[in-house]
Amino acid sequence: MTEKTRKTDEEWRRELTPEQYKVAREHGTERPFTGEYWDLKERGTYRCIGCGTPLFSSETKYDSGTGWPSFWEPVDEQNVETEEDRSLFFMRRTEVHCAVCGAHQGHVFNDGPEPTGLRYCINSASLRFEAERSD
Ligand code: FE
Repeated sequence: MTEKTRKTDEEWRRELTPEQYKVAREHGTERPFTGEYWDLKERGTYRCIGCGTPLFSSETKYDSGTGWPSFWEPVDEQNVETEEDRSLFFMRRTEVHCAVCGAHQGHVFNDGPEPTGLRYCINSASLRFEAERSD
């Protein structure tokens, strides 16, 4: 089991930029093709902006054409949690957040590539990329 992190709203506001706060804490969505990582192809790990937990890897990142960083699998199933999102009345979506600190990440859909068939559609603003060291 992962340990839960609890932060006050003041801490969140201090540590995150307004855009990161809006996405991670208020379930916002960055505009497509505007985020830092949608087109990034470097090798490395995408960590949670809130707590640093490794959530996604460049190994499972693919170009979904949506303008958001897309992955077909998380680094570890334990590190992400999902919940039903009915905020859009015309569709039911599955929300994805960090299992450790609760930071909203994005949504997961069933139209991803093999082998999982999943598409984790994630906001750059919820992630911090750490390049793989080449030594
Ligand atoms: Fe987190």
